Amino acid sequence: MWLTQLLQRNRQCFPDRTALVDARRSVTWAELHDRVERLARGLSWRGIRRGDRVAVLSLDRVEVLETYFALARLGALFVPLNHSLTPAEVTELAESCEPVAVIGESALLERHPDLPVRIRVPVDDPEFAALCEADGPALPHSPVPAPAAISDLPDVPDDAPAAILHTSATTGRAKGVAVDHASFRAIALGWLAQVRPTDDIVLVNCCPLYHGSMVVSLTYMAAGATVVLMPGFHPQRALAAIEHNRATHVWLVPQMLRFLMQAKALRSTDLSSLREVLYGAAPMPPEVYAEAVERLGCGFRQVYGMTEVGGPFVTLGPDEHPAPGAVDVIPAGRVIPGMSAKALGPKDQEVPPGEIGEICARGPGVMRGYWNDDKATADITTDGWIRTGDLGFIDRDGRVHLIDRSKDLIIRAGQNVYPREIEQALRAHPAVHDAAVVGVADADYGEVPLAFVVAEDGTTPDEVRAHLAGLLAAYKRPRHIRFIEEVPRNPAGKILKKSLPV
Ligand code: AMP
Ligand code: MG
Ligand code: MG
Repeated sequence: MWLTQLLQRNRQCFPDRTALVDARRSVTWAELHDRVERLARGLSWRGIRRGDRVAVLSLDRVEVLETYFALARLGALFVPLNHSLTPAEVTELAESCEPVAVIGESALLERHPDLPVRIRVPVDDPEFAALCEADGPALPHSPVPAPAAISDLPDVPDDAPAAILHTSATTGRAKGVAVDHASFRAIALGWLAQVRPTDDIVLVNCCPLYHGSMVVSLTYMAAGATVVLMPGFHPQRALAAIEHNRATHVWLVPQMLRFLMQAKALRSTDLSSLREVLYGAAPMPPEVYAEAVERLGCGFRQVYGMTEVGGPFVTLGPDEHPAPGAVDVIPAGRVIPGMSAKALGPKDQEVPPGEIGEICARGPGVMRGYWNDDKATADITTDGWIRTGDLGFIDRDGRVHLIDRSKDLIIRAGQNVYPREIEQALRAHPAVHDAAVVGVADADYGEVPLAFVVAEDGTTPDEVRAHLAGLLAAYKRPRHIRFIEEVPRNPAGKILKKSLPV
């Protein structure tokens, strides 16, 4: 299976090079491979079997990926859970996939004493180290008889399920997305072919491993790169990690890039090793891009992905990035080899290049389906294509351009109004820091835009309206403007429209 081969190959090719780094330790490829082999055996002693679901509750650290690889070795499913959720939310996610075990940091395990699992494994406990380092049964009192040596375990086929990843749930409840090993292999091979990451890369991963964006880091690992894990995002620590590890690449969401640009430590940090900033998961605000280009002077790569599609399936490289200010929205990029993308019109017909439709994806990367939810799987699939819910178009050179989420589209008297375009125009005002736009019912026009604006004290609605008059056609201008303290966003920087005080 692909993940096992990945470790074997990197152990063979780069045994003494660093594979993973976190705040506490680092492991070489040889150590990672060997620890994973022992951990797989140890977890098998603890009673974890092929097909079992195993919840993971942890800040990002080396042990999380060791667990993922070890579970893959056993054919058990990795189910990373968002550690910032409440106990009730975690229990709800866990109940939907019935894990037999939870592996995680003790403090988090203690916060969730009611998780319905048989087996609990703290990663920050000597027991975990023993599982990774011991060659015999780490726990003599284990109720499970020692199984055959790991080398006798059959290789897990690539079409076996690998993980259940939860979507970011900006519009509804988080859904469990079941992906198999073949999905990850397909995405990684597409990246290796198109992006061609090299084994000298040191990637600082700022995006949490409990999200579909983890596939980006796995893809760089497949190339033999070093991945640096961060225990949550903190601008100063991210800058320090880049400097300290002489990182060549950093993977983050646009909102994190905004925080990096605002960090006091930016000036005093040596970022000369940085070759490429990878960003995605949410739209890049033009002002953040412009500032980052000026201050970092490195390349930029956009990543467009979706958990249901297997992660990052469209990317735009540094050579194709426009100069700041040249376009309103940076194109998301081209689909990777092995995957397909098209834009579907309202009658499910493919629309010609340049015409707006719903972006759809197909190929070996896409999920097996939502876990235990065939209805939701059928709803998001048309003729084998996953409907992303993103409105956009594909230009004559195959570049995907994203315009907005279809759920957020406002239809004002029959005309389409895209909230994202209004938000961008609002943010272009020097006194406006952030904005979110939603549609509200209107007696005259059916639906009209309502703008929530975060602005400097003293800014008036009239001032904002005057600014928009120069940027947007009259029908797109918000009917209502309300000032708020902060736009609610999830950790990926996506606006939580359902949390706005409409
Ligand atoms: P998730 O399934 O939680 O990974 O969220 C996937 C969604 O994130 C996509 O359907 C897009 O709406 C959004 N998204 C991902 N990448 C980008 C990007 N580069 N630009 C804009 N939106 C993005
Ligand atoms: Mg989604
Ligand atoms: Mg502004």
